[in-house]
Amino acid sequence: MNNIIPIETIIPKKNNEPLLIAGPCSVESKEQLFSTVALLSKSAKIDMFRCGIWKPRSSPNSFQGTGKKALAWLKDIQIQYQIPVCIEVATPKHLEMAMQAEIKHFWIGARTSTNPFAVDEIASALQGTDVSMMIKNPVSPDLQLWYGNFERIAKAGIKKTAGIYRGFSTGSILPYRNDPMWQLLIEFKRSHREIPIYCDPSHIAGKREFVFEIAQKALFLDVDGLMVEVHQNPSKALSDKEQQLSIPEFKDIIDRLIIPSKTEIKDNTLQKYREYLDSIDKELIHLLGKRFEVIKQIASYKKEHIIPILQIDRWEKVRKQNLVLAKEQQLDTAFIESLLDLLHKASIEYQEKLMQEGNKRNKEN
Ligand code: PEP
Ligand code: MN
Repeated sequence: MNNIIPIETIIPKKNNEPLLIAGPCSVESKEQLFSTVALLSKSAKIDMFRCGIWKPRSSPNSFQGTGKKALAWLKDIQIQYQIPVCIEVATPKHLEMAMQAEIKHFWIGARTSTNPFAVDEIASALQGTDVSMMIKNPVSPDLQLWYGNFERIAKAGIKKTAGIYRGFSTGSILPYRNDPMWQLLIEFKRSHREIPIYCDPSHIAGKREFVFEIAQKALFLDVDGLMVEVHQNPSKALSDKEQQLSIPEFKDIIDRLIIPSKTEIKDNTLQKYREYLDSIDKELIHLLGKRFEVIKQIASYKKEHIIPILQIDRWEKVRKQNLVLAKEQQLDTAFIESLLDLLHKASIEYQEKLMQEGNKRNKEN
């Protein structure tokens, strides 16, 4: 059981609409920063402006961010454009300098999120402050490590928090830069339904052409906001050049996205479908119970006649005949294949357990 994290909204929005955060990957110069904000504020209504000033780059020879000199510019932007700014922090020193420049919103990046010592240090520096701290998922698909970071931040008394879902490094070959592993987003929402979660489609995508489809999918999975990288001239960007959107591209995406409503619908149509679905699920579970009863009989027969659990010809036949049936029902083949594999695996494990149990008893006697 996971601890419930005390939460306060970072920036309240009417009808719980998704929070929209946008801005460049990095601040590169005063001109680039101000022209991005100016263009952005003319074309789209965003809730928070994002940018990195200390960049966690793989190579020490790549652009590392402008560092602290950007803080004064960001302070001006907050006043001039009346927009809250958020930046990534990785050390207590970053946090301290940024708070002096009146920045109130922060995030812990995916690399820092893998390091409990670093998060502990940031959490200590947060004690007694009223800032907000978003936490990106760790680079590796480790939800417990991510949850631990929320607990660390909560222990420091920070209530304004949210998760940022930016995909994982899994080594899988994908068109995207990071593996979205959407199942983990669902798992996060299930285990910590109190924590708002935003999606960062830019870092999942790695390429601007995928940003829309990822953002749309995340909204359909009921995320509470989006953090998108935009640049006034992406082809000249000094970091994450392939994934940053130009301002017109960003506007186009925002206009095209379908934003599902979080307000409850009053009629009970869904309720009726759900009741029907529940009764089907009940039948399925009942049938599975029956299936395992038969498997039990099969296991004792195989034991008695000392024959292998795995009967490959039979398995091949079962797969084939069910795939034909599935096709007739217009069910997705890949889905049915994995379902059959799962059933077969469980059946083998179940038979193995029953046969081993018998063995153990024989030895004991
Ligand atoms: C960023 O937001 O620019 C960044 C470095 O992201 P991440 O920590 O997700 O890699
Ligand atoms: Mn980036």
